[in-house]
Parts: sequence; structure tokens; C-alpha cells
Amino acid sequence: MNCLLGAAGLGLALLALAACGDEAAVTAAGGKQPSALPGAGVPEQLARSRASLLADVNYRLRFDIPADERAPIPAQEAISFELAANPAPLQLDFSGGGAGIRSLRINGAAAAVESGNEHIVLPASALRRGRNEIDIEFIAGDGSLNRNPDFLYTLFVPDRARTVFPLFDQPDLKARFELSLVVPAGWKALANAPLEQRAELGEGREEYRFAPSDPISPYLFAFVAGEFQAVTREVNGRSMTMLHRETDAAKVARNLDAIFELHGRAIAWMEQYTGIDYPFQKFDFVLLPGFPYGGMEHAGAIAYRAPSLLLDAAPTLSDQLGRAQLIAHETAHMWFGDLVTMRWFNDVWTKEVFANFMADKMVSPAFPGVDYALRFLVNHYPAAYAVDRSGGANPIRQALPNLNQAGQLYGSIIYHKAPIMMRQLELLVGEEAMRQGLGEYLRKYAWGNATWPDLIGILDARTDIDLAAWSEVWVNTAGRPDFRVLPAGNDGFHEGAGTGSSVLLQEDPAGLGRVWPQQFELVSLFAQGQASATVSAVGDRTMLPPASGDGPAVTLFNADGRGYGRFPGGVELLLAWERLQPIQRGSALITAWDNLLAGSIADINGYFDILLDIVQREQDPLLLELALGQLQYVYQGLLDTAQRTALASATEERLWATVAAQPDGSRTKLVFGYYATLLATPAHVRQLYEIWAGTRTVDKLVLEEEDRMVLAQTLAIRLPAQAAAIIARQLAATANPDRRRRLEFVAPSLSADAAVRDAFFESLRDPGNRRTETWVSEAVANLHHPSRITQSEKYILPSLELLQEIQVTGDIFFPGDWLRATLGNHNSATAAQTVRRFLAERPDYSPQLRMKILQEADMLFRAAQIRSRSAVPAPASRPVR
Ligand SMILES: [Zn+2]
Repeated sequence: MNCLLGAAGLGLALLALAACGDEAAVTAAGGKQPSALPGAGVPEQLARSRASLLADVNYRLRFDIPADERAPIPAQEAISFELAANPAPLQLDFSGGGAGIRSLRINGAAAAVESGNEHIVLPASALRRGRNEIDIEFIAGDGSLNRNPDFLYTLFVPDRARTVFPLFDQPDLKARFELSLVVPAGWKALANAPLEQRAELGEGREEYRFAPSDPISPYLFAFVAGEFQAVTREVNGRSMTMLHRETDAAKVARNLDAIFELHGRAIAWMEQYTGIDYPFQKFDFVLLPGFPYGGMEHAGAIAYRAPSLLLDAAPTLSDQLGRAQLIAHETAHMWFGDLVTMRWFNDVWTKEVFANFMADKMVSPAFPGVDYALRFLVNHYPAAYAVDRSGGANPIRQALPNLNQAGQLYGSIIYHKAPIMMRQLELLVGEEAMRQGLGEYLRKYAWGNATWPDLIGILDARTDIDLAAWSEVWVNTAGRPDFRVLPAGNDGFHEGAGTGSSVLLQEDPAGLGRVWPQQFELVSLFAQGQASATVSAVGDRTMLPPASGDGPAVTLFNADGRGYGRFPGGVELLLAWERLQPIQRGSALITAWDNLLAGSIADINGYFDILLDIVQREQDPLLLELALGQLQYVYQGLLDTAQRTALASATEERLWATVAAQPDGSRTKLVFGYYATLLATPAHVRQLYEIWAGTRTVDKLVLEEEDRMVLAQTLAIRLPAQAAAIIARQLAATANPDRRRRLEFVAPSLSADAAVRDAFFESLRDPGNRRTETWVSEAVANLHHPSRITQSEKYILPSLELLQEIQVTGDIFFPGDWLRATLGNHNSATAAQTVRRFLAERPDYSPQLRMKILQEADMLFRAAQIRSRSAVPAPASRPVR
């Protein structure tokens, strides 16, 4: 059998073979016994050929969900579609394979089940040109149903629908889904389309029947069922229902207005910006404990991680902005992603960048006191640089030969570098032309699919700049430039320039001579006064304006935070703190940090001292948080044990004084969080214990169940002799059943007994014990707590060995989360050596996972190098196309 269906021409057939598995041999199309199948997963060539043959796909699905989370789920399905021609067999994707299929009928006739490589084969002879219907009875796969004792939810992005039921699992075969769920009586259920009918079936069962959905890609098909509470409100004339499982009624009540209002605002903003009304039949959302992402944009039924929306009594500014951003992001997806979808997941970043780009725009007017440019800077730059400075940097757009690798495309480059790139693009095209271009793109491809070049084509017509060339370096290659200043005349170029003038060099660290055209502002601070200038760095050499003030200047490049790259600058920028505007302070911190990590700032103690000063003085919560994050890393990651011990008492005292000095509950909570994480001296541990136990209160600090749970974990590690008692007391005090199950799960990772921790780590080899990934990440981070890294170093190698399997069994972000929890706190030369040796011994290792490891190990490599007291040479990052 041929994995290429309906394609004519030898060239295409050869391509198809390349995409097939090893078994793929050329056989007569339509042969009775298929001897070859497409490779496992969804190879791109299979998707291309199916997209050219199939149209008007419809799935009618019925799942019979028992109360027992371990009992099988019987299911029925009717798939109908138009077929342009039937020259060869057609494949459905179903990773459960044939074993779960009880019966198969093709156009009314019973058919034998032929399966392999995660596909079910529909013989050409049973298919016909025009309308076809496939009827299947089967046992639903469990992999992506996230079954819990009294609820379940689907999460099918990017290609996980095929783990549950047979389908054509590719984003450009949009379909209508007609769903029925039979569930235990009393459960609630939510799906993409409105509820059509709810019927009692007797014997404690009831059926939810939903209307046909709008046409959506399979990864957006979703349902949730279980014991939930429902809140319905009308916002701007639209009825919205929220499902949740929070038991703290005050917490829910406190957040409801904001949650509904933020959704209402986001819909109104998107309708106004795009000129297109909200496209789907209805708009609901569900708050899930343990949900692995912040949110997922299931059309008409968004899923959120509950704590992202149900904030504390005194949420930090970051939490509030984060919630507004998340709601705006998921709502924007209803247009960018759901209405117009990428043709293939190589362009998944387009939906993510637009969702984030729109969210950035939406959030700023909702928080009038917040400096939008600073928010953009701290939200996106540190995360984007963290990957782009690493040896595992990936381009924004990456090739994707098989959908089963799509999860590996996600990461900070998509979520954080792409918005930076998009802002530069908007600067080039103009805000209004950009808005009109995006509107045209949405109207042209509504209910269908489009690629990044399709959009660039639309925008290109609105500008004189060659956007395709611009996009080539920003989008299709990895990395960022290094900027360096040379006196003019010494660069071998500006020989005739006057004395005092200098040249800014833009260098490609990969040695490929690339230039990232960009614009930013620089500020020079003189002994008296300051001067600023706009730098248009379109080539690799830019003349800088001659110095005009008196005396030597401190120069802050990228003073407006629009540039992208490693800029010169060190502690002199931080020492000028009081003379800088907020956005300049943010840029100064990020620039100095970059150079600290590059090894060009030798005095780590001095840097730490300056940071602690900044933390004590800074009023802006976004800058305060940025400085606290650096402070924590320098303290726990870069100082050696003797230095840290010498500084501990004074540091804890100063942080404690900073907690007390904060003007409001939100900032108190922010600084307290870092204080609680950093403290280690007996006096402060005892104080933390009293705060957790409630025998000591802190002015303006409100602690809720979730906060006490986090504190209990810290205390269990800091007070090993009392660990069991602390966890037992916290369990008894925890009212919410989901939080209680979570604490029970992570408890062994906190044990004072190393054998218990070892056994827990061993238990994670069983994928069944990794089902709730947020719990696993939390527990693994406990194993690798900064105070336990010498004991936990032995887990690094087996954790790396598990990564490939984790990529297969886990959700999109889990491989990265797993690596972060494992490596994030380590800083020793031996730990770095373990990671390097692991990669060196596996030359044929998956390139995508190798990149992920290099990204997540970057701070470990740098810490080990910095601690060894020698400067790190600029990383030789090899760009990946
Ligand atoms: Zn998104």
C-alpha cells in the first residue's frame, strides 16, 4: 500500500515514500492485503494527500463514561466525508490501533479491521467517490482524557485526539463534531457546541447531547464532564457559563466579576480590532485543577488552570496582569487559531504570536497605572533571551515532518521572541496597515487554514520593505546578534570618522554574517546631564553620534526596550539606577544580567549586593519582581556555599525588613514569597514556621490554603525532623479535595528519608504515576530543592534517560517542565558534566529533544562555569533552520 493517496507524479510519490515508515513498500493501490502503512503518528505527506482528497468531514461521537475512573469507556462513532477519488486505501489515525475496535462498517457493509502504525486502514474497494460513512464501535483510548475520581477533561492539542478515537487528525481537515456524553447522574458537562438535550437514562445515568459544532480542527474539539459548580452570567448581551471545582466560596465570589468582565472586554476588543463578530455559537469556559497549561483555546469552551484565574486575596500585580493576559490570549485565539487555523503545526507559532500580540494590546488599557513598554519588556525579553543565548536556540518557524513531534515546537521562542519580532514588524508596516492586513487575512481564510507566507504576502502588499527577506532572519533562523562598540577608525571601515565618534557592530555569534534589522534608542549619562539618540541598526555597522557631554559617559543601549540582542553594559548601569526611567531600569537589569551570564562581570558578590540594594529601594512592582528573580538565582545558583553562609543572616534580615516596608498586600506577598524561598538560618526558619502555623501574623500579608500548602512544603524540607508532622497537619487543614490529593501525591518528595525520595523518583518511571503533570513537576522540584542538590544529582541521568518516553506520553510543555524541575537548581561542574556526557554519548538523539536539553541546561552550564571562576566564552550556538 502506498502512504500517498491520489497524488500524481513520481516526484510526489518519492516524497511520500520518504515520509513512510521503513515497511513502506510500493504495492498495488487498493490491494486487498496492505503490506505497508504510513509511519506512526501523522506524517506530513499523509496529511497533504488526505487534505487534497477529503472535504466536509463530520464526526458523530458518543462516549459512555462510567463513574469509576479506571473502567473502560465504550464509544460509538460515525464519520462521514466527501471523497474526491478513491485510488488507494485511506487511513484513519488511532493510536489505540485495531485492538480497541469492536466493529467497523464502511458505507453500511461490515469490514475487517486492518491496522498498524497507529492507523486504521479503510480499503479503497470499500470507499466511493462522493459521500462515505464509516461506523465504528470501540473502546476509547484513555491517554488524553485526564480521568480523575470525579471528573475528566480532554486535551487534544496538538495530535492527541487520535489517542482517544479514530479520526483524520490534522488541523486542515476541519470538521463538525456532534457529541453525546452518557455520564453518572449529577455530573455536569461542557463541549464546543451548545447543549441540545439532557436526558435521564435511569440507573444513575444521564445523557448530554450537544448540537453540531462549528467547523473546527480536531485539536480544538473538547469536552469536560464531572462534578463541577456552574456559574452563568450575561456579559454584553452574551450568556457565558463557567465551570469550576473550587471549594473556597469567598475566593470564587471575590474573582467572579473580574473573570467575566475580562472575557467580555476581550471579546469586544477583538470584534472592534478585527471587524469580525465573535464567530462561534457560544462562549463558555472551565477552570480545572492541575490543568497542565495556563489555558487552552477550545472553540467556545476554553479550559484554564484554576489558580491562574482564581487569584488570592492580595494578588501581586504580575498575577493580575498575568490573568488579564491569559484571558485576552485565549479569547484572541477564537479568531487567530480557531476561526483561521494554521495549515500544519509548523506554523503553530502564528496563532500563539497573534494571541499574545493582541493580548499585550488589550491588557494595557485595562491597567492604566502600568507602564506598557516596561510590562512588554519584563514579560517577553528575559524568557526569549534565556533560549536564544543557549546552545539549543530554535527558530520561530521550524520544519515539522510528523505531527507527533509538534509538541516539541512549543516554548519561549514562540511565546516570547515572536511577539518581540511582531512588534518590530508592526513598527515597519505601521499600526493601521497591520490591523487592516490582519482583518483581510481573517476574512480571506475564515473557517479555513493559512500559512505564515500567506500572511506575509498580504502585509507585503502594504509596505515598500521586503518582508520576505526580513522574515527570513527573524523567523526562519535562531539566535540573536551581539552588539559591540569600537572607536571609529578601528573597525577597518569608518577610517575617516572624527575623533570621539564610535561604531556599533552587530555581530552574528554563529558566524553566518546575519543582520537583524532593528531600531532602538540609546541614552548616555554624563557627569552632568544626559543625551539620547535613535539607532537604526539596519546593517552590521552603525555610526554612533559623537559624545557631546562632559566626562566619560555611562551608555545604556536599548534604552526603550525595543532592540533585540546582547548589548554592552554591566554594573555601571545598575549603579546609575536612580538616574534611569522605569523602562531604562528594566533594560539595564536585563543587559547587566546578560553580561553576568556571559562571564564578563567577575565580581558576583558585588553584583549581589547591588541587587539587594535595588530590591530594598525599588517601588515599581514589575522591576521589583525582576530584581528579586535575579537575586534568588545569584544567591542560590552562583554564590558558593561559603559565600552564601557568610551572607545568610544579613541577607535574610534585609529581605525581612523589605517585606515589612512594602506599602500594600500585593507587594508584601511578592517579597514574602522570595523571602520564604531563600531563607535558611534557624531563626528565620522558625519565624516562617510560626507564620505558617498562624501563631505569628505579618502586617498586610494574607495567606490562603494554597499559600500555606506551598509554605508547608518549604518547611518540610527546611525542618526534616518535623517533615511528616508538618505535612500531616497541612493535610488536615486542607479543605479542598483536589489540593489534598495534590499534597498527598507530592508528600514523599518532601520526606526526610532519602530512601522514600528514591522510591518516589523510581515510581515516576511508570507513566501512570506521571498523569497529573503539574504535580509531578512540583514534586521533582522538591527532590532537587537547592538544599538537597548534592543528594539529588543522581536523579539527573535517569531523568534524561526518561525524556524521550516523557515526550511521547506527556503533554506539550511537560518535557520542558520536567527538565526545568530536574536541572533548574543545579550548579555543579559534575551535574553539568552529566548532561554534556549524556548528549555526547547519543549522537543520533532526537534533535528537538537535544535542543530542549541544551535550553534547560543553559543556566546550569553557566553557573558551573561562573563558579569555576573563569569567564564563559560567548556560546557557540549553532542556528537551526
Ligand atoms: Zn495560545
